[in-house]
Amino acid sequence: MPGEFELIARYFQRDLSGAPGVLLGPGDDCALLAASDGMQMAVSVDTSVAGVHFPPDAPAASIGHRALAVNLSDLAAMGATPRWALLALTLPDVDEDWLHGFAAGFHALADRYGIALVGGDVTRGPLSITITVHGELPCVLEPAQQADSVARPILRRDGAREGDLIAVTGLPGLAHAGLKAWQDGVRDVLNPCLAAYLRPEPRVDAGLALRELASAGLDVSDGVMGDLAHICRASQLSAALELGELPLAPELITALGEQGAREAVLNGGDDYELLLTLPQENLETARLALRSLNLSLNVIGRMQAAGSDAPRVMLMDKGVEQAATGQSWQHFSASQASVTQVSDTQVSATQASGSDGSCGDASPRNANGVAP
Ligand code: ADP
Ligand code: MG
Repeated sequence: MPGEFELIARYFQRDLSGAPGVLLGPGDDCALLAASDGMQMAVSVDTSVAGVHFPPDAPAASIGHRALAVNLSDLAAMGATPRWALLALTLPDVDEDWLHGFAAGFHALADRYGIALVGGDVTRGPLSITITVHGELPCVLEPAQQADSVARPILRRDGAREGDLIAVTGLPGLAHAGLKAWQDGVRDVLNPCLAAYLRPEPRVDAGLALRELASAGLDVSDGVMGDLAHICRASQLSAALELGELPLAPELITALGEQGAREAVLNGGDDYELLLTLPQENLETARLALRSLNLSLNVIGRMQAAGSDAPRVMLMDKGVEQAATGQSWQHFSASQASVTQVSDTQVSATQASGSDGSCGDASPRNANGVAP
């Protein structure tokens, strides 16, 4: 059986001679990295645990893809250019077939976005994958609070302004249906919902294209409602979401029905589209920029002053706020618990997603009864 160093050499050590800023790659005690002139580093780490964040019996290549994709999505959500990754892998045993698939899924996505694997760790234990990613962003010289959040080439959560449009890339909700499909025994990886769940596409290029057009942004990992609440809280504004404007993928309607599709967009997890706020005058430019990426941008609401209320997300149907019960939206509200407090930001109606950024309501954790 190959030892740790042989495994690393076989599956993870690659020629990094063309990778920007890599002075020393895997093999020594540390990697040595140099940021480009005038750039600052964006750094993020995420852990994916088998049975909690992904089904352990998912294809190994999908697990490798997905673990890196959720990390790249964090860079995308800041508008950063991916540069370097560290991979800490905990394995129950050495299964070379599995490792081969995992590494293939990981490297294929890494190559597409030009992120270099510069180091990591391999240990024995329950299957879990921790990835740290580093990206680059232009240095902003003014104090961040005073900078114009639209012109600033960084997508932060605290830059939304009163009157900004709320827009979402692509068609969220599919991954939520995909996880359900997986749990129902669907194994056809070409199923569009399942593909969205197992192989989410990080919106790196969209983040780069929109970072100087949008005032705020994040990636939707917990559903539009819950994630929009983060922008509301950080920007001290409320958001009015128009139900009728939610983009619904035809495949999602087929899978879950229209009502279920709306719920999936609002509260389903695991999608990794970008949710942005931007001034109306930048909308067409933003749409044009995304057209070349074959990606849609749909306006789903507007930011407004919170007034004397705590910042919150309001669900509107043709301009009328939907109460938590007693309306056409009752199914949505009543079936999924009550108002969830997201720090000091209230989410009206319901918010069934996990608050730790990891699992939606149909997560493997909940479905399998695995304790967090
Ligand atoms: P140390 O004992 O100094 O922590 P390790 O034995 O864990 O070093 O790793 C040896 C070298 O291999 C280090 O440079 C480390 O970054 C690299 N490495 C370990 N695991 C991985 C991995 N999964 N992918 C890439 N490089 C790795
Ligand atoms: Mg180590």
